[in-house]
Amino acid sequence: MNAKPDFPRQARIVIVGGGIIGCSTAWHLAKMGCNDVVLLEKHKLTSGSTFHAAGLVGQLRTNANITQLLGYSVELYKTLEQETGLATGWKMNGGLRLACNEERWTEVKRQATMAHSFGLEMHLLTPQEALDLWPVMAIDDLVGAAFLPTDGQANPSDITQSLASGARKAGVQICEDTQVTGFDFDGDTIRAVNTTNGTIQCERLVICGGQWSRQLGQLAGVNIPLVSVQHQYLVTEQIPGVPSDLPTLRDPDRLTYFKEEVGGLVMGGYEPNPLPWAQQGIPQGFNFTLLDNELDHFEPLMEQAIARVPALADAGIKQMLNGPESFTPDGNFILGAAPERNNVFVGAGFNAFGIASGGGAGMALAEWVQNGEPPFDLWPVDIRRFGKPHADVNWVRSRTLEAYSKHYTMAWPYEEHKSCRPCRRSPLYESLRSQGACFGEKLGWERPNWFAADPDSAFDEYSFGRQNWFDAVGEEHLAVREAVAIFDQSSFAKYRVFGPGAVAALSWICANNIDVAIGGVVYTQMLNRHGGIESDLTVTRIDEDEFYLVTGTGFATHDFDWIRRNIQPGCDARIEDVTSAWAVLSVMGPNSRALLLSLVQQDISHAAFAFATMQELAIAGGMVRALRVSYVGELGWELHVPVEFALSVYEALLLAGRELGIVNAGYRAIESLRLEKGYRAWGADIGPDYNPLEAGLGWAVDLQSGKSFIGRDAILAQKEQPLLKSLACFTLADRNVVLLGRETIYRNGERVGWLSSAGWGYTANTNIGLGYVRNDAGVDSDYLQAGTFELEVASERMPCELQHQAAYDPKMLKLRC
Ligand SMILES: Cc1cc2nc3c(=O)[nH]c(=O)nc-3n(C[C@H](O)[C@H](O)[C@H](O)COP(=O)(O)OP(=O)(O)OC[C@H]3O[C@@H](n4cnc5c(N)ncnc54)[C@H](O)[C@@H]3O)c2cc1C
Repeated sequence: MNAKPDFPRQARIVIVGGGIIGCSTAWHLAKMGCNDVVLLEKHKLTSGSTFHAAGLVGQLRTNANITQLLGYSVELYKTLEQETGLATGWKMNGGLRLACNEERWTEVKRQATMAHSFGLEMHLLTPQEALDLWPVMAIDDLVGAAFLPTDGQANPSDITQSLASGARKAGVQICEDTQVTGFDFDGDTIRAVNTTNGTIQCERLVICGGQWSRQLGQLAGVNIPLVSVQHQYLVTEQIPGVPSDLPTLRDPDRLTYFKEEVGGLVMGGYEPNPLPWAQQGIPQGFNFTLLDNELDHFEPLMEQAIARVPALADAGIKQMLNGPESFTPDGNFILGAAPERNNVFVGAGFNAFGIASGGGAGMALAEWVQNGEPPFDLWPVDIRRFGKPHADVNWVRSRTLEAYSKHYTMAWPYEEHKSCRPCRRSPLYESLRSQGACFGEKLGWERPNWFAADPDSAFDEYSFGRQNWFDAVGEEHLAVREAVAIFDQSSFAKYRVFGPGAVAALSWICANNIDVAIGGVVYTQMLNRHGGIESDLTVTRIDEDEFYLVTGTGFATHDFDWIRRNIQPGCDARIEDVTSAWAVLSVMGPNSRALLLSLVQQDISHAAFAFATMQELAIAGGMVRALRVSYVGELGWELHVPVEFALSVYEALLLAGRELGIVNAGYRAIESLRLEKGYRAWGADIGPDYNPLEAGLGWAVDLQSGKSFIGRDAILAQKEQPLLKSLACFTLADRNVVLLGRETIYRNGERVGWLSSAGWGYTANTNIGLGYVRNDAGVDSDYLQAGTFELEVASERMPCELQHQAAYDPKMLKLRC
């Protein structure tokens, strides 16, 4: 390689990729005062996917913070020209979404409520009102529509050039025609980037390589699970009656989208049978390049589009375009600090909404790179949401194609993926299947959601009403409250933290006191420096210098990474993932002690085996770690069983439990049971944006002992201030109303928040919703009690009850210890 004489030798931050994401990240870093930045682009700016994007900018997503991120893009595109002098083509013409059947209409009404929850204006329209906004469409099949006035469209290349120009002016060096070919490592740290023009030392590396990011990630030792998929649209000549302020249009029942362009229309869509691309790798030199059109493949979309816009049948076609774009297994983009390395960040996999996301994603990534943490909780797009199956590109591709094909299909509540299953199976899988388990999937794991009386009926029938599993889950729920049930929770992520420094390491990382007697089980949060909840888990002391940590299935990568990064330098402690070594059978319910008593020799009375302790029990020839804990509000034990013993232990429990009314139960019953008890779920009710005081978990924070831990100062400071938000529990007894989460909370007629999770409580016989009530002047119990609350469900407001205790009244508990 011949080094170019003027090629930079060193930069604090090196960004790879000159598409909208790389340029936005560079611009935001410069705005933050960090201009020791070099951006490397193998060809020319915008020459990847950015130059051929259609330019629709929508905002509403199913998560408040991602919606906020997209809202940030809109604000940026409005004003960028004033800052950089280069226009972005931004036009805030609004966005229309159509509904052509009653179920879609329910979905749209629920989306409108979600928009209101997140503070976004979204109006429901009659077909005629929609026609007034979009005069060239046929509306004979329309049930209704929704309009987002602040959506719009922009010119992707212009935005990118505008951002790049602003970044350059602020001191960022942009090197085009510079291909990254490899990296120099120092352990898990990248020290230098090798390019066709020379080597550049860096402190931090940011991969914004679009569909090339997976390959770049491989060079850097980072898994970036995305694949290329073909995406087509056409551009028409002028069509009479198309005004320049025509809103963008999404017609999900016809799988298509539209936008105005120079008096004509851009029309594209999401086929049910997407075409993958570059399965053997992206060809060299693929820049400013398009793929051959797949006319046969596009034809069904064209037919749907003509049915919506009859004038398309006679419109001249100016251009048809097939461009590859990177898509991901869950349809969300990939952002954040790569868990495999100490100094690598990623912004990639934008699933054909990279223009809409570009401004906000660049802002968030810049903050992440600069400060080592995101500006707010970005869990739905966090790279640490992926796990073991995502290392296999074939798995990733199959799941991604499924996600692509469902882009415009109905987003049913509780919908499960079909592809790549079964993948990770517990030793009980076949047995549970033969007994009627209907499985869901998380991070590749098959997990029983519920049990059908007849195994042939073990499938979900989706709807927005009560689904076919509702009664079966009710029976499982009641068995837990009144007898005993057994849950297969083998998919829990489990770690071993050990070494002479294990106590010191975990004392610093955990908010609760984990320095307990051997056999103690501690429920704790791990906080960030702002006091936000990064993890919620149990820590069991196995020995003087050994702990066993158990956390949720989906958080395996995230929590491992959080702990690994926060073990202080010089602290002799290590973390090992032991998930695959242990199956977990939870026996929960008032008869659980009698069940275990029939199988074990030890005294397991309350006095001998207290809550929040662990003992080893011999069951069916296996030594089992029994943790006396409960996430369902009943007496119970999590039995952690070496995998080879799991089936025998399970069979022994089932046999012994016959007389005690034992049943198999699944995750939907757990959800109902924990909602009744008001137990919080990480990722929904708690997360980095909420501190334990706001979440009502202050009792699990050890401020008494005086120990130092991450977030302590923030919690102490919070104690001196009013809470600006506080988790509350609401009930709504009408069984015909289905709460799913994200319904808007109103207090005295004013919007104060949304439900973070919700469902039906079978013992309390009511809908239950948890959600934060927000108020700038503070939220305390007086403020809550003085309010009259309503929920907006599918665009309809209805009264609800604020509960001062968990919906499952503890007084209903018989003495069960
Ligand atoms: C047909 C089509 C229509 C679309 N319509 C829309 C839309 O309406 N709205 C919307 O929001 N989004 C849309 N998108 C999506 C949007 O185009 C992308 O999400 C976005 O452009 C991604 O930007 P990026 O910066 O991540 O990737 P890219 O634009 O691909 O940029 C990555 C850059 O990295 C460079 N690079 C890669 N490897 C290296 C290396 N080794 N060394 C140096 N440089 C390297 C590449 O050359 C490339 O320029 C559409 C996409 C397609 C395909």
